[in-house]
Amino acid sequence: MQLSSRLARFNEPETLKMAKLGRELRAQGIDVIDLSVGEPDFDTPEHIKEALHKAIDENFSHYTPVAGYPDLKQAICTKLKRDNNLDYKPENIIVSNGAKHSIANLIMALIDKDDEVIIPTPYWVTYSEIVKLCQGKVVLVRTSFENRYKITPAELEAAITPKTKLFMFSSPNNPTGSVYSKEELTALAEVFKKHPNVAIMSDEIYEYTNYVGNHESIAQFPELKDRVAIIHGLSKGYAMTGYRLGYLAGNADLVKGCEKLQGQFTSGINAVTQRGGIIALTADLKPTVEMGKEFEKRKQRVLELLKELPGVKCVIPDGAFYVFPVVKTYFGKTDGEETINNADELCMYLLNKAHVTTVTGSAFGEPDCIRLSFANSLPSIEKAYARIKEALAKLH
Ligand code: PMP
Repeated sequence: MQLSSRLARFNEPETLKMAKLGRELRAQGIDVIDLSVGEPDFDTPEHIKEALHKAIDENFSHYTPVAGYPDLKQAICTKLKRDNNLDYKPENIIVSNGAKHSIANLIMALIDKDDEVIIPTPYWVTYSEIVKLCQGKVVLVRTSFENRYKITPAELEAAITPKTKLFMFSSPNNPTGSVYSKEELTALAEVFKKHPNVAIMSDEIYEYTNYVGNHESIAQFPELKDRVAIIHGLSKGYAMTGYRLGYLAGNADLVKGCEKLQGQFTSGINAVTQRGGIIALTADLKPTVEMGKEFEKRKQRVLELLKELPGVKCVIPDGAFYVFPVVKTYFGKTDGEETINNADELCMYLLNKAHVTTVTGSAFGEPDCIRLSFANSLPSIEKAYARIKEALAKLH
């Protein structure tokens, strides 16, 4: 069968590829520990599950409005006011099948062939691939370990051209865990103010996994708000990855564009998920806060365990549930059977020899690193790092 050229324009997500390889080994009876995952290992909180059950009992089984139920959109506005002091109306909100779908809608609604999209590295794998799918030009700006992998105003200014249409970033960041402070966002906002045609995608899906305090959104600057699209969803903060609820908050015309796309591609998202989403967004955040505390505990332990790996250095994550250590000290080394030339090969080595899945930094635009999730139980994390340490010690 002759498939379209579109498919050759982009790669499949390395994160999902690794999880698949891990599952395949596990199917052969091998005890594989998964540190490649991008999802909380907790169950969905009880009060949300009750709302989901109730929605089934109340026969929420019909097609839904394309952009989401009005009361769900209102609940999102309430959340944005409650947590972020941001004023949005339901016309500024569209609900999609996960934040990934919200991001895809946004890029499809904004990007024409050859439009430039600035993405600071390291970045979440999907951003660049959807831009390529839409024939936009990905402009990667490599940030530094020294600046905790955050783009500086000067780097941003230097990357903007008359063709720049969109800037895409996440805070807290996946994979580095870096969090932009209000001061840092203020400095970037000063640059954006000089370039009124540049839209900004602010992916805030890790808002609730933040170890430094207040979450700050770049939408808080009135001069920028109308061209900022906040991307958010229930996957991470509420342990609801499988329910698939993401949303975009932004300019009403952009929202209409996304709605037009979604009307043809998917229609409105699952009715039951939307009803559960209303409760998740408006109820007490206690279970979310508890999950955050557990992640913090694991983070502390993981940082200790990382210190036991010779030659590895790591930016301490301020948010999200990953560490993203620099591992290039192992490039060029061999255990006598396999030679490790890069991060991709190191991840395969750790999978085959330590039976631990990780994700190569090259998937995130930073080839010196690998990503290790700590969305796994502490005993599994301990076991995984012991195996990694043993496997790395064999490389000379
Ligand atoms: N943005 C970031 C930064 C992510 O890490 C993820 C999930 N790994 C998503 C968006 C997408 O989340 P979902 O589609 O599950 O809502």
